[in-house]
Amino acid sequence: MKKHIILLFVLCLVLAGCDTQTLKRCPDENHPHMIDLGLPSGTKWACCNVGASMPEEFGGYYAWGETEENDEYSFRNNNTGKYVYIGDDISGTLYDVAHVQWGGSWRMPTQSQIEELMKYCTIKRATKNKLPGRLVIGSNKGSIFLPAAGEKQGRIFSFANYGKFWSSTFAHDSIGDEAYNFAFYYSVYNCSKSSRLIRRSVRPVCP
Ligand SMILES: [Zn+2]
Repeated sequence: MKKHIILLFVLCLVLAGCDTQTLKRCPDENHPHMIDLGLPSGTKWACCNVGASMPEEFGGYYAWGETEENDEYSFRNNNTGKYVYIGDDISGTLYDVAHVQWGGSWRMPTQSQIEELMKYCTIKRATKNKLPGRLVIGSNKGSIFLPAAGEKQGRIFSFANYGKFWSSTFAHDSIGDEAYNFAFYYSVYNCSKSSRLIRRSVRPVCP
């Protein structure tokens, strides 16, 4: 009986070690993984982009609120040119590409989750399999790689230099056509607002 209790205890320890909530880097090729960067909010970040099968892959380019790669933007009236309001925060909604494509608790990061990442992590230039991007390192030494996938407006441009990732947060003070995105280029990092029409990467989180 005592043996069984010890075995059970060991099994619990093994299972706890496999808990995806506590991963600090990818353990295998079965992406996406939930990476713990030691953030105060407890937010975990995905190891790869929506549409990518590996961390360094660019993945899909999505307009804000679109859940598939589209040439036409669904949320603008072609006759009036006006933008359709789809909410202040689309995280976890039917307009959230991470939530729709990956399911479970995956969702687009909010503006404040991006700001938290910028505040509490060290971000530095890096390459993965010769592809350029940024390594984001948490206070707990957990890390994720963000590829410099550029962005897409008809064609893909600025890849290798820029990374642009949508947040789920609508920019209220715009004329209705802007949302916040995390951007890096050279040694600049910010969470700024820009046109919902531009197709960008999406890096999901688990809140
Ligand atoms: Zn992974």
